[in-house]
Amino acid sequence: MQVLRRGDVGPAVAEIRSTLIALGLLSGNPQDGEVVFDADVEHAVRAFQQQRGLITDGLVGPATYASLRAATYQLGDRPLTYLVSHPMTGDDVAALQERLLELGFDAGRHTGVFDHMTEQALRSFQREYGLIADGICGAETVRALRQLTPKVRGGRPVLLREQEQVRRAGPRLRGKRIVIDPGHGGRDRGVVVGTNSEADLVWDLARRLEGRMQATGMEALLSRGTDQCPPERERARFANEAGADLILSLHVDANASPQATGVATFHYGTGNGTTTSTVGETLAGFIQRELVARTGLSDCRTHGRTWDILVGTRCPAVRVEVGYLTNASDRAKLTDPAFRDTVAEGILVAVKRLYLLGENDQPTGTFTFADLIRHELAKAE
Ligand SMILES: [Zn+2]
Repeated sequence: MQVLRRGDVGPAVAEIRSTLIALGLLSGNPQDGEVVFDADVEHAVRAFQQQRGLITDGLVGPATYASLRAATYQLGDRPLTYLVSHPMTGDDVAALQERLLELGFDAGRHTGVFDHMTEQALRSFQREYGLIADGICGAETVRALRQLTPKVRGGRPVLLREQEQVRRAGPRLRGKRIVIDPGHGGRDRGVVVGTNSEADLVWDLARRLEGRMQATGMEALLSRGTDQCPPERERARFANEAGADLILSLHVDANASPQATGVATFHYGTGNGTTTSTVGETLAGFIQRELVARTGLSDCRTHGRTWDILVGTRCPAVRVEVGYLTNASDRAKLTDPAFRDTVAEGILVAVKRLYLLGENDQPTGTFTFADLIRHELAKAE
């Protein structure tokens, strides 16, 4: 196309004018039939270019023209689908992507380009809501997207259900069923440094946690025996079949650099943070804070991940990497049984905090096992 600039006259200019008026960037009547590219039009074009991250030159070349066209589409104006050779672009595509993200379907960044990822997210949405999963955003899909948005804003329905379950479960630990998942096992020793193996350390830690949980009246189940190493998916299935309230996966980390050190906790979540298990994230935060406060391990923070154990479980799942066995200082801590008791207590207190829904003001790191038992007994009366 010909590049249009100030001083140009003609029907193409009239079209640009009416688009800019429709976008609220130029005053006037979209049907005024004005055909002159004047100073006001140039000013509006610059404003538009600035908004859209285009080169702000006040000229209407192919890129600016395409963006102006794209800006006129609203969701529902036309059916949207993935055209491999000539992807559809427009504000309607951006709106679709944003809506899918809000609903917890990862459509990538809302680029306004209907790409493969958008198609996959759209199909998942259609499948989950009982629509024909054809990857075409037509009238019916638009209707479903509009109806659903206000109800499920803030997360996927299944993740909202998790929150409701925790609330309903009440503050007491008694009767809650927790699957403790010691990583690795059997022939898979995990990280091995000298005579110390991750499989043995997390097994021992799991047993300490199990004992404390049972003392509070919780039902603690281990996901494996000492000499077994079920795949992650099987561990997740075990938790699902047990109808677990939570699954806690225990690991220690390794790094090529002996300097790498600290504790990190992981929950279900996509990298961009739009889809996350709120309960998982909350619990991960409590565990992370308690462990950092109690153990002196450095804080490697909490992170959303899509690992099998986090994705495949129906209940909230958290994985803790308690220090680096490859770091001398972390290793000295991990091999001390008293340290593992401290970690077990920190995790248990974090679980208690989850069910207290933040209604406990005892500072992080100070809630003891004895306090916890007392709290449980008081509640029982
Ligand atoms: Zn591991």
